[in-house]
Amino acid sequence: MANIIQSVKGMHDYIPKDIQIWQYIEKIFKNVLNSYSYQEIRFPIIEKTELFQRGIGNTTDIIEKEMYSFKDKKNSNLTLRPEGTVGCMRSCIKNGLLRHSEQRLWYLGPMFRYEKPQCGRYRQFHQLGIESFGLIGPDIDLEVIMLVQRIWKYLHISQYINLELNTIGSIHDRINYKKSLYLYFKKYESLLDKDCQRRLYTNPFRILDSKNDSIKEIIDDAPILTDYIDDDSSIHFEQLCKLMDKIGISYIVNYKLVRGLDYYNKTVFEWTTNKLASKHTICAGGRYDYLSKYLGSISVPAIGCAIGVERLILLLKSLKNQSLNVILCIDIFIIFLQKEIELHAIKLSENVRTAFPDKNVQINFLNSNITKQFRKANRLGARIVLLLGLIEVKNKTVLIKDLKFKKQKISLIKNVIQELKLFFVEDNL
Ligand code: ATP
Ligand code: MG
Repeated sequence: MANIIQSVKGMHDYIPKDIQIWQYIEKIFKNVLNSYSYQEIRFPIIEKTELFQRGIGNTTDIIEKEMYSFKDKKNSNLTLRPEGTVGCMRSCIKNGLLRHSEQRLWYLGPMFRYEKPQCGRYRQFHQLGIESFGLIGPDIDLEVIMLVQRIWKYLHISQYINLELNTIGSIHDRINYKKSLYLYFKKYESLLDKDCQRRLYTNPFRILDSKNDSIKEIIDDAPILTDYIDDDSSIHFEQLCKLMDKIGISYIVNYKLVRGLDYYNKTVFEWTTNKLASKHTICAGGRYDYLSKYLGSISVPAIGCAIGVERLILLLKSLKNQSLNVILCIDIFIIFLQKEIELHAIKLSENVRTAFPDKNVQINFLNSNITKQFRKANRLGARIVLLLGLIEVKNKTVLIKDLKFKKQKISLIKNVIQELKLFFVEDNL
């Protein structure tokens, strides 16, 4: 056992038991996204390092220390994507999607950040990204927020999750604000941790995002960005809050909320939960009206957010969410009793699959006795068992056994599909 190769630190396997939960969540994601007419987009996991440097900003945590960057055989600088927004925007620019009115898009996939692995923080994790291009808001800001709220509702977690909202104004507003932050934090320089001391000179705005509790008090008394916001951003924010109030979405305005990535402006938001060991952000996002220009394209207003899927699952598990009890249930389990009739059983299973393409059909190849085979059917949560033995094959029949409603019937093989339909009819009653 000494020589087993382990997976990379902070990167996890998802075995079939986990995938059941993932698929349950993904189904809800897709239904909701579809009902808001968002369309899926897929783009590479590896991009040129320059894309992230230019899009995310050189003084962010991601660029400073979290990227998985490497050179390929031709010495090109490449990076495993740490987030999806810039790749999504690059793809839309390349494919000319920004020229065509508006875009409502989503993607789901792995992201990579070299972070210290801990509960809810991994080096490979998954995000559902939701992005909308071409609309200036605040109505589209509201739509994105409503869409995510609907996902929480369908997952039955609305009451465990809080929406925090803020506006961070324009890049111009932030330049003035950063100056006053610098002057403020400079007074406390010796009390700041190493990261924040560095940020004081690179980007004092990022000190507000620090997770170090010992400097929280200093941060609490720092100047507030709201005092530096221009009229355009203030009006946008007021209108959004009014819309939210009218629709009845509850939120907390958190004037200290900033986002870790440089490309955000105006509206920023986060859904957090206190249900895990410490406060965790499950979903975060905001407007990023400058990004397309940073990437060399025409200016296109944009808003988006990302749900951290692993953190969402941690929350669902901590709540012992009922819906997670869904185990993979076999709809039709086919048992045969003698090796020589195996081919009959295989043919029967193929016919059943053709007739019921949505049903989960499993044939039991294990050559064990009938009791053990039924025990297995029960363990797998099988709904119906089809049993074939020498006698059934000779009589051209099959035994249909309904394990849920505890009834059974001998059917002619040629009628088995019709009979099975009747068994399943009861499920829809
Ligand atoms: P944090 O402040 O927790 O580091 P962030 O601001 O870096 O989060 P974003 O870049 O906004 O996170 O990513 C959106 C969401 O993706 C987060 O709210 C979180 O749910 C998830 N996420 C981010 N980093 C990780 C990670 N290393 N492991 C697991 N999930 C993550
Ligand atoms: Mg982070």
